[in-house]
Amino acid sequence: MVQSKLLPYAFFEGEFVPADQAKVSIATHALQYGTGVFGGIRGYLDRDGETINIFRLPDHARRLMQSARFLRAELPYDADRVAEIIVELVKRNAPTFDIYIRPFIYKADLELGPKLKGIRDELAIYMIPLQEYLPITHPIRLMVSSWRRVEDNIVPSRGKVSGAYINSALARDQAEECGFDDAIMLNAAGKVAEGSGANLFIVRGGALITTPVTADILEGITRRSLLEFARDLGIPIEEREIDRSELYICDEAFLCGTGVQIAPIGSIDGRPVGNGQIGPITARLQQVFFALVRGEESPYQHYLTRVKIEQPAGA
Ligand code: PMP
Repeated sequence: MVQSKLLPYAFFEGEFVPADQAKVSIATHALQYGTGVFGGIRGYLDRDGETINIFRLPDHARRLMQSARFLRAELPYDADRVAEIIVELVKRNAPTFDIYIRPFIYKADLELGPKLKGIRDELAIYMIPLQEYLPITHPIRLMVSSWRRVEDNIVPSRGKVSGAYINSALARDQAEECGFDDAIMLNAAGKVAEGSGANLFIVRGGALITTPVTADILEGITRRSLLEFARDLGIPIEEREIDRSELYICDEAFLCGTGVQIAPIGSIDGRPVGNGQIGPITARLQQVFFALVRGEESPYQHYLTRVKIEQPAGA
């Protein structure tokens, strides 16, 4: 179960406010038409117990602003400013546990009609505690969804567009109804795209393979990071189309993303992946990733924004 208790403070309409005051009208354009874009960022509690390590904050802020361009959003903030506001909000919330940060840029006017221009945009940010979103210590069971992944000429898949997540919800709902943990979605060409909220990797013959950014996927920041870690470990990497049948014969497979982290896949459509256990390349990448985000010695420390938590006086 994903917890959804909000941390005490949010950023809303240009100000830091108590999270329960960050509220919009039922007629809000984004609520009616899905005209919002969002980000998802993790802050990990460092092993020192008093620092939150935000993973690749500048990259997440940049992708958020990129997604916003699809909606012609106009805001008085650039990516650097959004990152600064997030750091300030982490300090105000002073968490001593792992968090998930959700920035949201949305069409805020109470305007009728699905369009993009001339509607006021706003930025809102809230935070929740977050542990595991999918299991990471035991392999998950996936199915190939009968829902196709939304394609670039329908809604840009490389943007995190709110309305497009109906597509993810349909796939995930079907998977859960059928007794699986999550779904893998094919694109309109019938090639593998990604999970409902995560990118997909497989391992074949010692090579780490993932779908290209032109396969109607979100250009995941975790995906990009793992490609870099694997290359540095000397693991051959391939970004290429993946056929459905490859899912049935690969040696390892995992989902990756901010929420999902690195979730090993034990079976797809009831067929075991490898021996059904966590594979060695998956385990190695998990080690590199978790050592980094928990603040252990790592060559990738530049990917962390470290925020020192000071408890408010009297807390
Ligand atoms: N694909 C989809 C559809 C997602 O929602 C996410 C989560 N943001 C990802 C992939 C993974 O992207 P990232 O690693 O940047 O979180």
